[in-house]
Amino acid sequence: MLKLDLNDIADTMATGFQSGYNPLYEPSEFPLFHPLHVATVSINNSSITSKLGHMFYFAVYAPTLQETICKNLKWDAMTFDHINWDAHEAAFTSLTRYQQIAVSMLVHNLWNSGNQCKQHIPAADSSCASCHHDLETIDHIFNCPDHETLLNQTASYSSFLQTISLFQTPHQILQA
Ligand SMILES: [Zn+2]
Repeated sequence: MLKLDLNDIADTMATGFQSGYNPLYEPSEFPLFHPLHVATVSINNSSITSKLGHMFYFAVYAPTLQETICKNLKWDAMTFDHINWDAHEAAFTSLTRYQQIAVSMLVHNLWNSGNQCKQHIPAADSSCASCHHDLETIDHIFNCPDHETLLNQTASYSSFLQTISLFQTPHQILQA
């Protein structure tokens, strides 16, 4: 009975609230200013307060970062602009912190391979953990001739292709 009464009271209050004028229902050209905020920055009527730090960081470091990427990869500015960096950022930020670290290490050729380990600890075993034959370099990790490794690589690659085919990935990329 108490539950019914509470529902009835809540319903009456909600109806009363909706029937009265509420300024929050008015369409606003600008983002609403929260009373706890001291200032809000907006560009094209979109509040950027939550991303302000990111935007400053980008403005300060992006030109140098672009220069470094182009220099390391021998790209010109046009090649750089062909990359969908927004999509790259969305994909990268969707990863967990640990996955981001792993991807960053791989991209910057800092993966903890046997070869990398040997540079810090000369006595360390730097041979491939799968075939126990060759020096474990990044190149070798992707080209190890070990049978079980090849089976795992083939299965993972098929699974990867199947996954990206679900996201309207261009045909050229799927065939690459
Ligand atoms: Zn190997």
